Parts: sequence; C-alpha cells; structure tokens
Amino acid sequence: MNSQRSYPALLKAEAWLRYFDDLGIHSFYRDRAGSSVMGNAPPVPALSGGESDLSDPVWNARDAAATPYVAEPQIAGIRLPTSTGERNRRLPPELHALVHPPSLFETNDPPRNETLEIIRSDLGECTRCKLHRTRHTIVFGTGNPHADLVFVGEGPGHDEDMQGLPFVGRAGKLLTQMIEAMGLRREQVYIANIVKCRPPENRAPQEDEVAACMPFLLRQIAAIGPQVIVCLGSTAAQNLLGTKKSISHFRGQWFDLHGAKVIATYHPAYLLRNPNAKLDVWIDLQKAMAILGLAPPPRKSSRERD
Ligand code: SF4
Repeated sequence: MNSQRSYPALLKAEAWLRYFDDLGIHSFYRDRAGSSVMGNAPPVPALSGGESDLSDPVWNARDAAATPYVAEPQIAGIRLPTSTGERNRRLPPELHALVHPPSLFETNDPPRNETLEIIRSDLGECTRCKLHRTRHTIVFGTGNPHADLVFVGEGPGHDEDMQGLPFVGRAGKLLTQMIEAMGLRREQVYIANIVKCRPPENRAPQEDEVAACMPFLLRQIAAIGPQVIVCLGSTAAQNLLGTKKSISHFRGQWFDLHGAKVIATYHPAYLLRNPNAKLDVWIDLQKAMAILGLAPPPRKSSRERD
C-alpha cells in the first residue's frame, strides 16, 4: 500500500464504505472520462499482487478503500462532503436523512411506529459483524410483541443457534420455570439477546459485535414498549446500562431505559452452576412482579406436582 496515504483518510474511507454498504452499494467504478462514480457495478476479481491499479476503470470495494477516490464520494453525480463542517453546510436535503440517521445511542427518542417485522426485515441475513461467519441461524428474539416484560440475555448458545430461538437449552428451561414462577407463560413475555448470532465457543460478544447488533435490540425494545426489562447476566446488563461495573454492584437495582424500568439479575446458566443464587434472582423477579402488578401463582400441592 502507498505509504503516503494517511491513516485518518483511510479510516474516513472505511467509514464511507460501511455507510454505502448499508445503503446496498457494494462496489465502485470510475468511468472512462476519469470522474469517480459510485454504484452497484459488477464486482471484479481482486487485482493481482494485492495492489490497486488506479488506471483500471473498475475496482472493487476493498481496492477502493485504498484509493483516494473514496475521499470524494458521489451518489448519482452528487459529490458528498468529506468533513463534518462541510457535511453540515453542503449536504443536499435528499441525502441528509441517509447520512444522518437517528442514532439510538445518542437520542432519547427512538423511532416510533416500528414493528418487529420491520426490524427483522431491516436486519435481513445480517453480515454487519464477524459473528455472521460462524452462526447457523440468526436468533432475532421471540414472544409477545406487546409484552410488558422483556428478558435480555447475552447471546445464543449452541441449541439456540441450531433452532433460531433464544433460551431453549438447559438455561432456557430454567428461564421458563422462572417466568412461570412469576405467574406468566413464556409466550406472554419477550425474550432476546444483546447479539443475535452465536459467538464462537460461547465466548462473550466483543465490543464491535455489540456495537453492530445492539441497535436492533434497542429498536425491538422501543417497538415492544415494555414496562420492565430484566437483564440476565452481566453482559446484558453492562451493555444495556452502559457500564463496565460488575453486576454484583447493581444487581437488583432499578434503572430507566427509554421509559422502561430495567433491573439486572443473574443469568440462568449461572444459576445452573450456582443454585444458591436462585434466592437472589427470585428476590429480583419479585421486584419486577411488584411493578407489573403480578402476584405469585398459588403453590401446587404435592399431589398436583406429581
Ligand atoms: S450478531 Fe447481530 S450484527 Fe452481528 S451478524 Fe449477527 S445479527 Fe448481524
């Protein structure tokens, strides 16, 4: 790669490429007159030797990242600004909403009137982060689209990845028991995860993966409009609440997220390894029940249990 190209320029180019990729523009070409153009040109094989040939009229997105052409991008002949100041002054109104979509991380006002179907359709066969390479199935989330209670876990495990449903393994069975202990049926609540694709070896999702995936979860939560969100485990709690503190510092306390009350408790998988923590979780769930106006179901007699 040309050593004279600056690193910030490449970062800017990469940001533009990601943005255009989201718009469905996956390749770039230059017309024979020499002006730079963007569009869905047919992809071409990578050039030999790993270096871009700038005299070639066509090059693919990866090559374009290493060329100065992307620093002055265009759509349909409209030159896009390349700095924030220029963007604010020059951006054509028809492109403004595309370049400045509302950020769910920066606004207290998530999009309204969205449905889970719209969000699922936007997600598509997502390749926004590297977890797509090893997943079997996207685990979008399941349950009542108007639930008062939403559970958020960390990410799919093996069983979830195979079935495309959250919390279906041993931990899922325990979660179902927890929900029923609250006097609810599983289909009355909504269950989702911070990331929708299984991390390899069940490792915790990494920062870039969470950054790519969590906006969809936030949109799901906004569309459902629950009263209460229960974070299951530290990964869910830390990411939803934006903290790096250990869950033991804030477990069982109430927080706000876009009008919903959020409480963190231990993950059912943790309870399988540490059954003594079940009492703590039951105390947390009872706090959620109090907000939701739920009374615990009557205890079954030993004859009914048999
Ligand atoms: S984890 Fe989320 S962002 Fe990453 S590929 Fe899967 S659905 Fe897309």
